[in-house]
Amino acid sequence: TDQFQSPDYLNLDELLSEEHLMVRNAVRNYVKKEISPIIEDYAQKAEFPTQIVKQLGDMGCFGPTIPVDYGGGGLDYISYGLMMQELERGDSGVRSTASVQGSLVMFPIYEFGSESQRRKYLPKLASGEWLGCFGLTEPDHGSNPAGMLTNFRDAGDHVILNGSKMWISNAPFAQVAVVWAKDEQGEIYGLILERGMEGFSTPTTHGKWSLRASATGELVFDNVKVPKENILPNVKGLKGPLSCLTKARFGIAWGTVGAAMDCYDAALRYSKERVQFDRPIGGFQLQQKKLAEMVTEITKAQLINWRVAVLMNDGKASASQVSMAKRNGCEVAHNVCRDARQILGGMGITGEFPVMRHMMNIESVITYEGTHDIHLLITGMDVTGLNAFK
Ligand code: FAD
Repeated sequence: TDQFQSPDYLNLDELLSEEHLMVRNAVRNYVKKEISPIIEDYAQKAEFPTQIVKQLGDMGCFGPTIPVDYGGGGLDYISYGLMMQELERGDSGVRSTASVQGSLVMFPIYEFGSESQRRKYLPKLASGEWLGCFGLTEPDHGSNPAGMLTNFRDAGDHVILNGSKMWISNAPFAQVAVVWAKDEQGEIYGLILERGMEGFSTPTTHGKWSLRASATGELVFDNVKVPKENILPNVKGLKGPLSCLTKARFGIAWGTVGAAMDCYDAALRYSKERVQFDRPIGGFQLQQKKLAEMVTEITKAQLINWRVAVLMNDGKASASQVSMAKRNGCEVAHNVCRDARQILGGMGITGEFPVMRHMMNIESVITYEGTHDIHLLITGMDVTGLNAFK
């Protein structure tokens, strides 16, 4: 058939419920109809397809695990993972939009927000009426966000925010920004900013060779007056942003495997059709080695993701376990995309196939939400009990 079929070498579909399969098929069909036909063009032009914001809201891809009362999907982590897998099968940028909105904007408002903040923001973010972004990284503080300089001081019924954030997904189109900043005592808090606040601007980052269909920008705060009621009341310290990252990283673990599956699928089909030296190139041992390793690595990653999802459902997954899954997904996608690109020969560098786009996208995914190195160090610290960061 022409339609993408995810490789399922160990019949893992048997571990999924009817609901999981329904969710996966719905998002798969959406990607097939609305994303795959347009995404290459948007990526080539480095444009963000703004229409996806409402579409992803309609599909329930924003905050799928947030309770229905607040506009979320009330689904479990396997459904959430499958959604991210299917979206990233389309494009990592589309999945990024959903990850940021659901895990980095809706989750902190749901988990740490006041009831009025929840009521005001969550339904509009869930439906895609509003787009949000998450500001943690700064020009001089990426892997080490504890060193952040963005700060606010008390000014009666509001605070005055100064500083800047860099590399912020969705920033140029976002109506809402969850921004992490230090108070006068150096304690980190989350603040909800809205577009239009005086002194708040979101300049676009140009010239990316990766995640070209996702908009990236800066957040600049020049004496922004933020009402005190916009501060998230129920968290302080780095555990606020880090707990959001754990949710998003879980989705990335599944998403990257979606990108890998798409590349494997393209390479497998091509290897059976492309004839050189009078036989399909898939008949050559060197190409079979690549395909066999791809499907093996994808299968191992599927198992890791499925198990971590079950632990998430039981509230038992540690941040370190999620780190391992995120890092593994990136590693698998990185290698599978590159090998697939080679199997496609010259065609592999064109936009006729999704492979080069996925390959370049993964260069961002392997860096954001904790670099590949940082996740390795998290696992290292977890197993040795020794901190190698500093
Ligand atoms: P650095 O921290 O400067 O790292 C540079 C290199 O040094 C890396 O290889 C790193 O692994 C290594 N390194 C750093 N510390 C150590 C150490 N202790 N030991 C060994 N090696 C080390 N951020 C947000 O807040 N919100 C977003 O929406 C967002 N979206 C993004 C979208 C894109 C397309 C990109 C590229 C980034 C995005 N980011 C976002 C930022 C991203 O999270 C950071 O780029 C990432 O955390 C790394 O920070 P850095 O780029 O400053 O690199």
